[in-house]
Amino acid sequence: MKNSPARICVPVCVERASELPDAITRAAAKAEVVELRLDYLAKDQRGPALSILRAWFSSSDQAVILTLRPAEQGGQTISDEEARRRFWISLMDLSGHALFDLELDLVLRFAAEAEHGSSIDWGRVICSHHDFHSVPSDLDDIYQRMAATPARILKIAVAANDAIECLPVFRLLERAQRESREMIAIAMGQAGIMTRVLAPSRGAFMTYGSLDDINATAPGQLTAKVLREAFRIDSLNHETEIFGLTGNPVGHSLSPPIHNAGFAAAGVNAVYIPFEVLEVDQFLGRMACPRTRELDWNLCGLSVTAPHKAAVIKSLDWISETAQAVGAVNTIVIRENEMHGYNTDVSGFLWPLKQKLGSLRGARCAIIGAGGAARAAGWALREEGAEVALFVRDVGRTSNASAGLTVKSFSISAASFAGFDVVVNATPVGTRGALEDQTLANIDQFRGVRLAYDLVYNPLETRFLREARVAGCETLGGIEMLLGQAVEQFKLWTGKDPDVRVMRRAALQSAIAADELSG
Ligand code: NAP
Repeated sequence: MKNSPARICVPVCVERASELPDAITRAAAKAEVVELRLDYLAKDQRGPALSILRAWFSSSDQAVILTLRPAEQGGQTISDEEARRRFWISLMDLSGHALFDLELDLVLRFAAEAEHGSSIDWGRVICSHHDFHSVPSDLDDIYQRMAATPARILKIAVAANDAIECLPVFRLLERAQRESREMIAIAMGQAGIMTRVLAPSRGAFMTYGSLDDINATAPGQLTAKVLREAFRIDSLNHETEIFGLTGNPVGHSLSPPIHNAGFAAAGVNAVYIPFEVLEVDQFLGRMACPRTRELDWNLCGLSVTAPHKAAVIKSLDWISETAQAVGAVNTIVIRENEMHGYNTDVSGFLWPLKQKLGSLRGARCAIIGAGGAARAAGWALREEGAEVALFVRDVGRTSNASAGLTVKSFSISAASFAGFDVVVNATPVGTRGALEDQTLANIDQFRGVRLAYDLVYNPLETRFLREARVAGCETLGGIEMLLGQAVEQFKLWTGKDPDVRVMRRAALQSAIAADELSG
């Protein structure tokens, strides 16, 4: 095996045996270990695959894991235990140095047979257990049963539905370290990404990464390239400062590429990870607050996104005046045993706008929407001396938001924005997916407006911006606010000015890649 500090294993999944050699070569270029998912082979391809592998093993020293996952553990073909057993017996004699990933049931069976004379090289066996639905409450018992077998390496992969469920997975790694066992422990799913990124720095035998975006073999699996280049898993250690985004969903956020690129450019030993959190009180109490957290990790700060921006406030030791005024926290700094809350959406919103328009004093601004982003934008504009009006779909329901801002609300239907200097879209309308082709302002409504500012940043180019441009307006996309608020977060967390060009490049690259993937 290559000698990188963090070992990545890339699974290879092909249907035809003849595709194996090329696929192995491609995977080996990305990672130290290649896992051959033999269950992906078509049934009539297993025989030919054995012949190809026999020849290949005699001439290659590539580190390889052979896996034949049964359907009930996330595999593609075989579930019958006897058929799996026979297949493994035919495999074991051909591979000089390969590791075998055997599920616990087979390990127990082979171990029982070994007592009657079968000979298995247990130093090459990974004993595995997968649960694609949940984190079982008897995880420790499962570990215990696995550890009692003669297998060298233990692997447990379970499905986390909330970031808090990564706790028992990290505990398994701690236990394995105490007991000097080689262990792979993974929480699958979006909520488990932190285990994929941090496990190697916490003693895991390896982590899994996919070859590319379309070849992931388990939910939440990142590409090997992203693990290595964006999360820099080779340089993570116990001193690494950990930051992350808490929200739900967080899967398509651009904040991880932005902050990780910023940390790398500044030479800071820090990493930023998406944390998909359902119960934010639980997460803050059991994983974040330095006085009560149950995990020994160097968590130093959080971004907070929907739906938790208001809910986090009661768990914090102190919040800034701006966060208090807006009623929302989007940034948490964890320092000296306390958690402090800030709102950088306000300055993030203003930063690109002031770069375009200079002073906003007296500017007439229309904000469409009355949610959290509209409040932050409205408050920021009022602080700058602008005149603000909210445009909403239900004037009656938005009395609280407009009362907090002391601004008037108008109905969005048939509104004309002529005479406004700035029109801000602070709704999700135009976001990739079902709302992508929609806009709450069209060419006719934009006529006479100086600048249209869409807070939506995925896709980069929204229908709102296209219509505004045709009407002759200047435009600003939401990625600029995203960068603006991230820059302020970076300063709060590190005390340094980030390289904004590097952050912008990372954001645009990720956004363009997401646009291309969506098609
Ligand atoms: P939020 O609190 O859920 O508020 C959403 C607002 O949009 C509500 O006022 C809602 O109206 C309104 N709305 C939703 N669908 C609508 C429709 N079809 N027609 C008219 N109004 C509609 O969300 P938020 O946190 O304010 O975020 C709003 C948008 O800003 C999101 O797309 C978010 O991604 C974006 N954002 C961007 C940044 C950035 O850095 N670029 C930062 C923060 C937010 P009702 O009250 O009537 O339901």
